[in-house]
Amino acid sequence: MSRQIIVGNWKMNGTSRDSQALVQALLAGLPASVPDVVICPPFTQLALLTDTLKTTSVALGAQDCHKDASGAHTGDISAPMLTDLGVSYVILGHSERRQEHGELDETVREKAVAAGKAGLTPIVCIGETEDQRDSGEHFDTLGWQIKGSLPDGFSGILAYEPIWAIGTGRAATTDEIAETMKFLREELVRQFGESGKTIRILYGGSVNDKNAASILSITDVAGALVGGASLKAEAFLSIVGAA
Ligand code: PGA
Repeated sequence: MSRQIIVGNWKMNGTSRDSQALVQALLAGLPASVPDVVICPPFTQLALLTDTLKTTSVALGAQDCHKDASGAHTGDISAPMLTDLGVSYVILGHSERRQEHGELDETVREKAVAAGKAGLTPIVCIGETEDQRDSGEHFDTLGWQIKGSLPDGFSGILAYEPIWAIGTGRAATTDEIAETMKFLREELVRQFGESGKTIRILYGGSVNDKNAASILSITDVAGALVGGASLKAEAFLSIVGAA
């Protein structure tokens, strides 16, 4: 099995001073042998942190990119601009972007193509609402999201983040995650054939220092996408230690 990957999604948090302090605390506490660690600060912090992280094992990710490489798109950032800065990953289709910016599966798929072309590893997020889970429609929803959001030949990372578990302190149970992982793997193989076997799948949604070890030991969980707990050095380091 390849190394697990722990991704910190800082969302819209962090001034330069906060970001530097958090990164210094992470670097000071990282164990010698670590899983792949990626931090995804806001765009405004990327350039600053590239320099700090240049000689370390921590990689940088962004939280979104545009589908075009350049052009008249006020306020947007393109994938080649991110590669140019030394960024190597990009989170795409996070439920907050789907909800707050009306991103559809198709938009996410176009962004994933752009990210791949620019040499970034896309981390494409999917996840069902609480209503969809309660009414038993979650697998259908996830199947459609995979079909719509992942481009042909996708070789990035898939992140399963049930919306009801994001920022709520209520992570999915290990049984729910295990059952969903099995479904996602079958669906990836059904849709992508042989290459669907190697797409890495992360779990995200209220991962913290207490539940990380049990979540990371579930079959086929290749790592975690961590929101709130990635803003606290101690909690994030203990999640990294659990991988
Ligand atoms: P959370 O967020 O860990 O705060 O639930 C996860 C995410 O949104 O990626």
